[in-house]
Parts: sequence; structure tokens; C-alpha cells
Amino acid sequence: KRGTPPEQREPRMTVRIRPDLDQLPAYVAGRTVAGSLKLASNEVSAGPLPGVAEAVACAAADAHRYPDIGAARLTEALAAHLDVDLGRIAVGCGSVALCEQLIQITCTAEDTVVYPWRSFEAYPILSRIVGATEVQVPLTAEHAVDLDAMAAAITPRTRLVFVCSPNNPTGPALRRAELERFLDSVPSDVLVVFDEAYREFVTDPDVPDGVELTARYDNVLALRTFSKAYGLAGLRVGYAIGPAHVAEALRKVCIPFSINALGQAAAIASLAAQDEMRARCAAITAERVRVRDELIALGHAVPETQANFVWLPLGDRAGEFNEHCLAERVVVRAFAGSGARITIGDAAENDLLLGAAKSFPLHG
Ligand code: PMP
Repeated sequence: KRGTPPEQREPRMTVRIRPDLDQLPAYVAGRTVAGSLKLASNEVSAGPLPGVAEAVACAAADAHRYPDIGAARLTEALAAHLDVDLGRIAVGCGSVALCEQLIQITCTAEDTVVYPWRSFEAYPILSRIVGATEVQVPLTAEHAVDLDAMAAAITPRTRLVFVCSPNNPTGPALRRAELERFLDSVPSDVLVVFDEAYREFVTDPDVPDGVELTARYDNVLALRTFSKAYGLAGLRVGYAIGPAHVAEALRKVCIPFSINALGQAAAIASLAAQDEMRARCAAITAERVRVRDELIALGHAVPETQANFVWLPLGDRAGEFNEHCLAERVVVRAFAGSGARITIGDAAENDLLLGAAKSFPLHG
């Protein structure tokens, strides 16, 4: 009671939080350092596509109204662009939110989520938040998703499998033949999520399109985002294409209004700028070849990459490389004890990174 001296108050208990959250790893975001070049979050440096700023300004004028809860216009635009039925699409607050919704709609605590590791760092965090049991499957020696090991990890308790292609943070993408062999082996009541956040940067014709796979396998879902090639990371829009009943369940568990009005308007405008998007991706993928070749020439064992980043498997020296780059005013994303992921920027940005890499004593 107010007015009662503290020493006379009854002992109060503190609000209880789930104890397992103490063990939850933090999601480490790429850092922004004033005055330094950020190549740490796989963003595109060219900015949003033409038409986006205007669409966002227009939507901002209605910011006092709730957004369209079903993102209907965006879903229609996606359906037309991808040539799939409206009912097979679910939009989310970034594809990371859809990752969480996918675990929510398929798993209880007894069920397992199988995913490659190292891969997108949200898979373990979200599995733990939702409360599913995780099975991490190590990558191959070439830093690629090991589909044979993934298949072997699937048990009758498995409800969900994440396949990240191209794999973040290492870069390799899965080829058609190996992927189809894997999908043919997965029980049809297990959902396979083909996380293609970097799809637009794929140049290898042998890497299948996830949306096409969803037409042939009724337990496959393709996950994509406007954050990378479309340059809208700050506005948080992702989308999933999969079986209609899965898309419906995703919409059911979506936090109401979480795909905001500016994001919806920006995504619609971005879809209309395909030529510009493709041109920017072509510039990035050309630079990707140059940066990788130069890093290999410096002695780094850079795996093949189909994304807008390269992976340096530096092991214990990842932290040291990170510090060295920071001192050179370049921010990369280091994973302690394992490696560093570097986003491909424009030519001038990549030159800065390569300059920093050249002065890093690889065998020091
Ligand atoms: N999947 C992968 C493989 C990613 O790398 C990322 C972002 N780093 C995401 C999903 C989530 O992206 P967003 O939430 O911005 O759509």
C-alpha cells in the first residue's frame, strides 16, 4: 500500500519469466559503426528500387490508419508475379517472422525441427522460443548443406526441415539432382522449408527455383524476402509460397497488422521494378566473382557462393579479422571460432574490403 514504509511491506515476489530463456542465444545483428562501411548484414548498398520512396511517402500520409491486415494487394501482386494461386501465398513481417510461424504451426515440444548448422542463426533461437526440439546437422567439408545427413536426421518425430539455399553464412546453393533426391526421400507429412532469402543472386542454372519445387512437391514451401535484392530490409516484408493449407495456417498465427502499411506499399512498388532489380543483382554477382577470386588469391579458402556474400573460414582467427577490418573502417560479420561473412557491395566498397583483407596477415 502507498504510504506504508518499505520495511513494513509484505515481501513481494518478482514476476516470473520462463527460466529456459536464460539459455537463449541473442540474435547478433550486423553492427552499424559511424564513419565505417557496413558489409555485415547482406543488405544491398544501392538502396530501395525506383518508385519505392514515392510509394512509401504516399502510404505515410495514411499512417493513422491500420494497414490491410491481409496484405491483399501485395499478395495479388506476388501471385501475378510468381504465377501461383493467391491461396498458396502468406506474407510476413520479414521472412524471419515466417520462420517462427512455420515452427509454431507444425511443432510442439516433442516434435523436432531439423536444420543445417551453421546456417541462418534464427533457426535455433526461434525453435527454442516456440519450444520445439532441435536437431542440428553439420555442413559438409565444403561448407554446404549436407542433404544426406539431413535425410538421416529425419525421424517420425520430425515435423519441419529447414533447407537454406544459398546457405547463410557460407554461400553454397543446392543443385537440382541432389535436392530432388532428398525431397523424394522425405516423408510427405514433413514440411520442407526451402529458405531462399538470396534467390535473386543465384546464377547457377542447376540451382532449382523453390517456387517451381512447390508446384511439384506438396510438402515443400519456398521462403523469400524483400530485405535483400529488393533493398527493403528496414521495412520488414517476407513471403512464403507453399501448400494452401500451410499458407492458411501461417496467416492464422501471424501477429495482426505486423506487415505494416509502408512495407506493403514498398513491396508492391519493388515488384514493379524487376529490370532494375535484375540489373543490380547482375552487378553484385559480377563483383562476387571478383571479390572471391581476389580473396582466394590472398590464400583464403572461400567456398563457392551463390549469394550476395562470401565466407572466410578463418576458424579461431575470425575475431581478429573482424577487429582488423573495423580498424580499416569496414564492418564484416564475424562468427566466433568459425569464420567471417562479408557482404558484396559495389566496386568501390569491395575495393575497401579487399584493401583491408590484403593487410590482414593470414599466416601471422
Ligand atoms: N533467411 C535467411 C537465410 C536469412 O539470411 C535471413 C536474413 N538474414 C532471413 C531469412 C530473414 O530475412 P528477413 O526477416 O529480413 O526477411
